[in-house]
Amino acid sequence: MTKLNAFEVFQLLPKTNCKKCGESGCMAFAVKLLGRQIELEKCTPLFEEKAYEKQLKKLQELLTPLSEALETGIILEEEKCIGCGNCLIVCPVNVAENPESSAGIGVAPEKEENVIYVVKDGKAKIIDLTKCRRYADTEKLSYAQCRVCEIYCFTEAIKILI
Ligand code: SF4
Ligand code: SF4
Ligand code: SF4
Repeated sequence: MTKLNAFEVFQLLPKTNCKKCGESGCMAFAVKLLGRQIELEKCTPLFEEKAYEKQLKKLQELLTPLSEALETGIILEEEKCIGCGNCLIVCPVNVAENPESSAGIGVAPEKEENVIYVVKDGKAKIIDLTKCRRYADTEKLSYAQCRVCEIYCFTEAIKILI
C-alpha cells in the first residue's frame, strides 16, 4: 500500500511559502492537508495560476482517497473482505478489550461495543474507531504509528493512507 506522505504533497505545491493559505509555509500546509485540517482550496495560487495546473490535478488525484477515509486514515473496503478475522486477532485494542480475540474466537456480543473490529455476516465491520491507537493523536497531527491491521489484512481490505 502506498502511504501518502507530507513530502510528496509538498513537492506538488507551489513551494513559494507565500503564506496566502494562512500557514507558515508550504510544508506546514502539506502536513495539515494530510491531517485533513485544511482544504486544498486554501492554497489559492494553485487554483489561480495556470502554471500549477498539472500539479493541482495530481494533488487532487492523490488526495481524493483520503477524503473517503475514516478519521485515522483507515479505509475498510467491505467487498475485498473475506471475513478471515485477522484484524480482530492482531488489533491490540480488540485483544485488550476482548482477550478471546487472540484465540480467534471472535467477539462476544456483549463486548462488541468495546472493540474496533467485529466480523458479521462474513465481513469485518468497524464499531468504534475512536478507540484506535491512531485516533488519539489526530488533533496533534502526529499519528500513532500502529498499522497492524493493515499489515495482516492479506486481501488489502484495510488500507491506512497516512
Ligand atoms: S498558499 Fe500555497 S504556495 Fe502559498 S504557502 Fe500556502 S501552500 Fe504554499
Ligand atoms: S478486513 Fe481483512 S483481516 Fe479483517 S476480516 Fe476482512 S479480510 Fe480479514
Ligand atoms: S491501526 Fe492499530 S489500533 Fe487502529 S484499528 Fe488497526 S490495529 Fe487496531
